[in-house]
Amino acid sequence: MKRIIVIGGVAGGMSAASQLRRLDQEAEIIVFEKGRDVSYSACGMPYYLSGVVKEQESLIARTVDEFKERDITVQLQHEVKEVNHIKKYVVVHNHQTNESQEVSYDELIIATGASAVKPPFMIDAQNVFSLKTLEDSTNIHRYLKEENVQKVVIIGGGYIGMELVETMHLLGKQVSVIERGNHILSMFDEEIATRIQGELKNDIAFHVNEEVEELIADREKITAVRTNKNTHEADLVIVNVGVKPNTSFLERNGIRMLENGAILINDKMETNVPHLYAAGDCASSYHLVLKKPVHFSLGTIANKQGRILGANLGGEDKHFPGVIGTSILKVMDLEVAKTGITEKEAKAENLQYKAVTVDAYNHTPYYPDATKMLVKLIYEKDTHIILGAQIMGKSEAAKRIDVFATAITARLTTEQLTMLDLSYAPPFATVWDAVQIASQKAT
Ligand code: FAD
Repeated sequence: MKRIIVIGGVAGGMSAASQLRRLDQEAEIIVFEKGRDVSYSACGMPYYLSGVVKEQESLIARTVDEFKERDITVQLQHEVKEVNHIKKYVVVHNHQTNESQEVSYDELIIATGASAVKPPFMIDAQNVFSLKTLEDSTNIHRYLKEENVQKVVIIGGGYIGMELVETMHLLGKQVSVIERGNHILSMFDEEIATRIQGELKNDIAFHVNEEVEELIADREKITAVRTNKNTHEADLVIVNVGVKPNTSFLERNGIRMLENGAILINDKMETNVPHLYAAGDCASSYHLVLKKPVHFSLGTIANKQGRILGANLGGEDKHFPGVIGTSILKVMDLEVAKTGITEKEAKAENLQYKAVTVDAYNHTPYYPDATKMLVKLIYEKDTHIILGAQIMGKSEAAKRIDVFATAITARLTTEQLTMLDLSYAPPFATVWDAVQIASQKAT
């Protein structure tokens, strides 16, 4: 009987295991997960912390017992420390018994995800956290419940940082964000990000161009964050300054990786080492606009890569075409989204591009609650093929990004998008939809 080992039991790993089981009822499938939890939605954690999602359990898609019913064995608190791809075994350490053992495999799936980067100023203290795992959310939740937290300092103005801005604001905390770049949300162009900052500035203190130098602690608790410009008092500090793929335990196997440690895979999720595959946050993806492998940390990608990998190991021949980094964010009453490349990226890649920005209504202005959204479109200068888009608005804005994602994937031009037969009725859109008002301006 074929034995397939999966390392990592969240989106990438469990999608692969589940899809494989659907297609192959014979294979032995063993999942080693170093944490205490399996198959949960990290994406829901900010909403659990804010109380919008009441029960943490509702973030768990399937339990160990439910996987057992499908004949998938999940071993929690089992960390794979080493892989020997020549003799085809892994060394697993059981953190409960403190014992290690060698377990052989026929095929090995690496779905170890990525961890929150620990910057040099990070110290051990009771009130400093990163939000990456379900356990992190448990710890933050407990601290918020048990301690008197008024001032929250969020270090890092990326997606997770901004979701936590909403969380902490909803909880009635006084929120500051420290960002070393010249604007939050560095994956967006400046004009979009600064507009977001402007919209939120009455409720949230943004400190951009500030570099954290020290977390000042008193009796195991941080009391303030010192930057190159200021000292910010803090009852709770959350540090989310990026992620790093969990691949260092593989170093001796000659697996090709990107500079940041993301495992290089092809469109079948195969690595350069036979019988070794990868999916999710620990792996690369092929960028359809940049035409090169990149690293994104997105649940959408992890699920798709895992599913393709499971299908291929189950005997099918599936290919994952690639990604364009489509992502979406809610922060307080703002919706923000992007797909494809930004103007910043187009410049860095020396592309011949043009960009347009429009303010357009979400639906007909005479219908109640109409609000405007900001839409930015990047397209190739000569061909007018759409390369990227960003949207920011208050209502019915962000999911419009999917129209752009579809257009970019299909390599539509701005003219083709303008003439696309999109829907209209006054409660939903204007007669030329916001996305088409942008593409029209580019035509
Ligand atoms: P992970 O979820 O990181 O799982 C990897 C698992 O492998 C971990 O449980 C880890 O313990 C285990 N592991 C690591 N090393 C070993 C080892 N050596 N041995 C055994 N086990 C090991 N994405 C979106 O698309 N939309 C969102 O809205 C969104 N929101 C997010 C909000 C937050 C707060 C966070 C943290 C992430 C969010 N993401 C979102 C990203 C998304 O959660 C990740 O892309 C997704 O979880 C990646 O799945 P994965 O299986 O590749 O990795």
